[in-house]
Amino acid sequence: MITIVGSGAAGVYAALTAASLGEKVTVVEEREKLGGTCVLFGCIPSKAMLHPLALAYSLDRIGKTLNFSYLELTKLAKDAINQLSKGLEYILESHDINVIHGKASLKGGKIEVNGQTLNSEKVIIATGTIKPSGALAADDLPYLDKDFNKVVIVGGGVGGVEYGWLLRMIGKEVHIVEKEDLLLPKHDPNLRKSVTNYFSKLGIKLHMGVEAKIDGNAVITSKGEKIEGDFVLLSFGRKPNLEGFEELRRDKWLLVNEYMETSLKNVYAAGDVTGSFTAHEAIHEGITAALNALGKRKAYDGSVVPKVIYTMPQIAYIGKTTGNCKKIDMVTLPRAIAEKETEGFLKICEEGGKIVGAVAFSERAEEIITIIGIAMKFGVSISSLLDFQFPHPSYLEAIWELVRTFEGIM
Ligand SMILES: Cc1cc2nc3c(=O)[nH]c(=O)nc-3n(C[C@H](O)[C@H](O)[C@H](O)COP(=O)(O)OP(=O)(O)OC[C@H]3O[C@@H](n4cnc5c(N)ncnc54)[C@H](O)[C@@H]3O)c2cc1C
Repeated sequence: MITIVGSGAAGVYAALTAASLGEKVTVVEEREKLGGTCVLFGCIPSKAMLHPLALAYSLDRIGKTLNFSYLELTKLAKDAINQLSKGLEYILESHDINVIHGKASLKGGKIEVNGQTLNSEKVIIATGTIKPSGALAADDLPYLDKDFNKVVIVGGGVGGVEYGWLLRMIGKEVHIVEKEDLLLPKHDPNLRKSVTNYFSKLGIKLHMGVEAKIDGNAVITSKGEKIEGDFVLLSFGRKPNLEGFEELRRDKWLLVNEYMETSLKNVYAAGDVTGSFTAHEAIHEGITAALNALGKRKAYDGSVVPKVIYTMPQIAYIGKTTGNCKKIDMVTLPRAIAEKETEGFLKICEEGGKIVGAVAFSERAEEIITIIGIAMKFGVSISSLLDFQFPHPSYLEAIWELVRTFEGIM
């Protein structure tokens, strides 16, 4: 028997993997609903809310308008949350996976829940993260039951950018306070400049190069400016959910090796609790943890992971963008011109004839970067990509045009 703590992306995929190998599986989840951060607070509600705004954005490019109220968006989010969470209940049940609701802790390498010790041979900890305290977080946005006008976002990283765009597109006055001089700290410099300029054009008020102190519904900057909103949204600062798991070695995150083994024998961990930050990493780590727990030796490979920020244009990136890089502006692509989606660019970098990283700020950036990721993961050389026929006219042709440039073809 295997016990998995957490029904988020990592826990669910660990459970399904173990069940499909014939193991008796118990999932312990402290919340009433299954699905974890992604389904209940993150990926899913945010995409339900962003989709109508992406449609409105594209219509706006061709001179038409489409309007939504904030509460219409939260309704869509709640529908998606409920449908997916219910769907998970059904999937786990149909795989004969036992679900116990309660807060688990680890004592002597065994899981305790609701005053009972579960006698399983293997344990997987997939408890995810908790949101920052002291202000609202993006997790709260689908659950607001009152409309509002003005939001002050602290942090211009990935979360600040995705939710800043969402709130601005629904017509709110949005302020972003960021301690660096450009949005998206630690990201590609071309991307940072383009996105910062684009956000200014959208009318998002950027307060760059200043520290923020939260004071109720206001932020006081290190320059002494007070920016008041209907609420403050803190866009960073999640912490691993590790209360009750003090037996395990950790730094900030729970420490695991490439087999997802923790410091205790027979106890594995996967997902955000180990310091990864996307649902797809959590899924693959969960699968790896379950395989290793059941005796199949498999190392987790997190070297090539696409990341996407679901603004419009989308922002997506993979690998590193240093070294020999080439860039193409979307305005040169026939499809982008036809659809008036000419904002942004694609940049690809190579070493030794193979792609080592890329960043796209463009329509369909998610697909562009995923295809580049496949080429990276499977070691496809740039010269062999030259022979692949990308559909015309497509946004994916940006890849092929850059391949031609790398090969010295005009
Ligand atoms: C606002 C937001 C938007 C996001 N958008 C995206 C996106 O678009 N794409 C993407 O890839 N990622 C996104 N993410 C990240 C994604 O949600 C996480 O990477 C993913 O949910 C991690 O899954 P997990 O299984 O590791 O943890 P979680 O999903 O956090 O699941 C952990 C589960 O464990 C339970 N639990 C915790 N402690 C205990 C305990 N002691 N006993 C019992 N149960 C316990 C929790 O209740 C929870 O259900 C977003 C995150 C946020 C916050």
